[in-house]
Amino acid sequence: MTDKIVLITGGAGGIGQAIAKEHLDNGNTVVLVDLKKEALNAAKNNLGGDNIELIVGDVTDEDSVKKYVARTIEKFDRIDIFYNNAGINGPLKPIKELDKSEFDTIMSINTTGVFLGLKHVIPQMENQGYGSIVNTASNTAYIGSAGMPGYIASKHAVAGLTKTAALEAAEHNIRVNAIAPAAIDTDMLADIQNNLSPGEPEKSGEALKQGIPFGRFGTPEEVAKVAYFLGSDAASFVTGSMYNVDGGMQAD
Ligand code: NAD
Repeated sequence: MTDKIVLITGGAGGIGQAIAKEHLDNGNTVVLVDLKKEALNAAKNNLGGDNIELIVGDVTDEDSVKKYVARTIEKFDRIDIFYNNAGINGPLKPIKELDKSEFDTIMSINTTGVFLGLKHVIPQMENQGYGSIVNTASNTAYIGSAGMPGYIASKHAVAGLTKTAALEAAEHNIRVNAIAPAAIDTDMLADIQNNLSPGEPEKSGEALKQGIPFGRFGTPEEVAKVAYFLGSDAASFVTGSMYNVDGGMQAD
């Protein structure tokens, strides 16, 4: 797989950058969408090379989503692979303590953002007659977790959107799958650790690792390898699937 045009939301983040690197290493061009110009520039410096396009955009804002799709088409004429990846964890609070506005914010980024990406990328892929979409769900798409109601609800919804989009898009030769990572060593996980044990992230880190059969956190690169496979033609008969990248947590 070379010369593909690969669009990635949350492209300045840990998993987004790792997916970008995997594609750059294989001769593809990446378009990174994220909230802040500085973070995107830092990602570009980090990744290196010329085949990187940056777009400041907010996945919760439909005009912004339309723009990131339109700008990619203007520049490259197509979107071969779309990683619908931006997300936040939000505050760690039980249902009775979570403000509606906090719940709404998590849902608007993690779920509405994924919905809007699908809504505006699928028509372009229909025009092309092919395409591959990989949504970033989570192992929390299958389970409950006390103290994470917004995140859990938002990722269950991503699982539902993935399966529904896969069924709607199959006749157009478009595949839609999801990755379901858990405990991947990025800023998001660091934030969760700091919230669970303020000032002592390693303390909650050790507790979290005990719940992982492999006994360690995953790396963004380990997620990117699976995401790359799902995006590629090597997964040509795979659609509507959720791929766990969780060190065995889902098996437990
Ligand atoms: P991260 O915080 O490093 O990256 C997330 C990126 O999304 C950031 O760059 C952020 O700026 C961007 N973003 C947030 N809101 C946005 C918006 N409205 N518009 C555009 N971009 C926005 O975290 P990560 O671990 O790389 O997370 C990537 C995805 O992986 C998320 O969907 C997350 O829920 C999922 N995930 C992560 C883990 C983990 O353990 N790290 C586990 C399961 C799922």
